[in-house]
Amino acid sequence: MRRLDQLLANLGYCSRREARDWIESGRVSVKGKIATDFGAKAHPADVLIDGQPPDHPDELLLLLHKPLGLVCSHDEREGPNVYSLLPPRWRARNPQITSIGRLDKDTSGLLLLTDQSALVHRLTSPKHKVPKLYRATLDRDLPPGLTELFASGTLLLAGEKDPCLPAQLRILDSRTAELTLTEGRYHQVRRMFASQGCEVLTLHRAAFGHLTLGDLAPGHYREFPLNTFG
Ligand code: URA
Repeated sequence: MRRLDQLLANLGYCSRREARDWIESGRVSVKGKIATDFGAKAHPADVLIDGQPPDHPDELLLLLHKPLGLVCSHDEREGPNVYSLLPPRWRARNPQITSIGRLDKDTSGLLLLTDQSALVHRLTSPKHKVPKLYRATLDRDLPPGLTELFASGTLLLAGEKDPCLPAQLRILDSRTAELTLTEGRYHQVRRMFASQGCEVLTLHRAAFGHLTLGDLAPGHYREFPLNTFG
């Protein structure tokens, strides 16, 4: 049960002040009757707004194919962001929709978005060891012994005191490889290759846990039920 004015505001329809006007002008009904009391509590399943059920009244989990050139930050000063790909009403929701981990501006691929902070914490914690698969192309041939080094759990990145967790490297050709990580440090893939003298030229995340992009085009997203991750 939620207060009607709060329900409309939290789902991004309008401000709480405007919600009161919407209710007073008869745009909201509860169990088939026009609502008049903006402070009354109602179950979202009983509410209609302009004759329509509320837009995703519960939680949201989205799988986005992040295109190159967008940041994952909400801070507009950092440039165009992935949230600009969502409907304006979703961008105005509270709690806010946020990414589960981040991809760099110059990385494309699978990005999960949700308004459930508990899910963000669960899926980004290295404790849960959710595998993330990246495909990288490099500026030079992969040096010998990289598969063993990345798998060893001994690789120390500049400025860090804990070595990277064991990571799986699959070499596709002399300058292309897939790397599976179970943690998500800042610029981790680029820094792991850089530590061995290789610059990452392109980076794409192809899988997150058991989820893949399938035929989803860049810039598009798909909804998933929250229990996708059990
Ligand atoms: N590692 C990186 O270097 N960049 C990403 O976007 C993700 C992982």
